[in-house]
Amino acid sequence: MANVDESGAQKPNMTKAEATEAKVGDEKNKYKLKKLIDELGKMRGRHTELVSVYIPAGYSITDVIGQLKDEQGTSSNIKSKATRKNVTDALEKIIQYLKKYDRTPPNGLVIFAGNISEDEGKPKIELFPYTDLVEPIKTKLYWCDQTFVLEPLKAMVVEHDVYALIVMDAREASIGLLSGKSIKTLKNLDSTVPSKTVKGGMSQGRYDRLREDAINEFLNEIGDTANELLLKHELKGLIIGGPGPVKEKLAKGKYLNYMIANKLLGVKDTGYTGEFGLRELVERSEDLLVDSMVARERAIVTKFLTALEKNGNVTYGINEVKQALDSGAVDTLLISEGFDWVRVKLNCQCGNEETKDMKRSVFHAKKEQKCDKCGGWMKPCEEEMNLMDALIEKAEKMGAKVEMISTETPEGGQFKELGGVAAMLRYKIG
Ligand SMILES: [Zn+2]
Repeated sequence: MANVDESGAQKPNMTKAEATEAKVGDEKNKYKLKKLIDELGKMRGRHTELVSVYIPAGYSITDVIGQLKDEQGTSSNIKSKATRKNVTDALEKIIQYLKKYDRTPPNGLVIFAGNISEDEGKPKIELFPYTDLVEPIKTKLYWCDQTFVLEPLKAMVVEHDVYALIVMDAREASIGLLSGKSIKTLKNLDSTVPSKTVKGGMSQGRYDRLREDAINEFLNEIGDTANELLLKHELKGLIIGGPGPVKEKLAKGKYLNYMIANKLLGVKDTGYTGEFGLRELVERSEDLLVDSMVARERAIVTKFLTALEKNGNVTYGINEVKQALDSGAVDTLLISEGFDWVRVKLNCQCGNEETKDMKRSVFHAKKEQKCDKCGGWMKPCEEEMNLMDALIEKAEKMGAKVEMISTETPEGGQFKELGGVAAMLRYKIG
């Protein structure tokens, strides 16, 4: 996720500390949003009475209020009197809330409202607005259902690997980012490099030298711009493309900062430059992207296994990792996609309550557990939760990085065999 707005409000002179601060701000925001998604995801309406409203930036609040009033009118058709009242009341809460705004916040606005009371006779209409969006919301939506619509928000908290893209020839260059499936153009540059054909009165040799100088100047400009735009991103790789041979100079020369140049995954021929060229480059680079993912995973697991052999700052196993997370010692949490444990809350007739973590298969084989206090049977008193989610949430809260390890590579398989959960530590724990 970009921490500054590349479109216009660029801050090229942002210090490293400022950039870090902006990034931390983003992370906190993301964490808040994840909590909200979690909380709202658990809520169920008794009937179709939970209202979700998504307003993209730039939409007029007055228009939205008008539409919601129309919906209030339409809801008079709802047969059940209780449901009708709940929907109308939820809409009223949203309308009243929106009236506080004279314009839509910069990234848009999302509001949820509805009856979340457990008690049918006593409705409790709650309002959940969310305005601190890190990215602009693109969906415009009004929906009434038994659950809230959360998919567009969920898409915002997914972590994507970010790759830098440069397409160029002697005439123009585009710098962009690939994040998940979306390609974002950061900057387009035009050169002043003259065409190959010599014009009136100049010797071919002199003309070629002039052209060479102009190309070199353009490469420097591309390098400087790319460094400024790309160094603030945590890149997983760089791919360079374009028609013609000039791109090779960018790939091999010293135009790019070494921290970006080191990430080069490959150079590809494309038919186009510009935004279309960026898209073409991604299409032609699928092999590089897959290799990069596999190589990265291999590197992480190998780093972990080597440290383990040398008795370094790493630990593995569920209890060890939980302990490391509790003490704040985790730098990176490694977790296998095949890690299938659950966290279960159990209670006993004697009043004893316990939270236990176990393999999902173990839990499903035998849902009742022996009570340590009275020897009776403890039963689950809440729906079990995915332990992976709990661990990731905890790690993020403690400021640790999280790396998911697939089960498809040999290293990934080996990692799963070790229990599928491990941590690289900030310091050694006893
Ligand atoms: Zn008991």
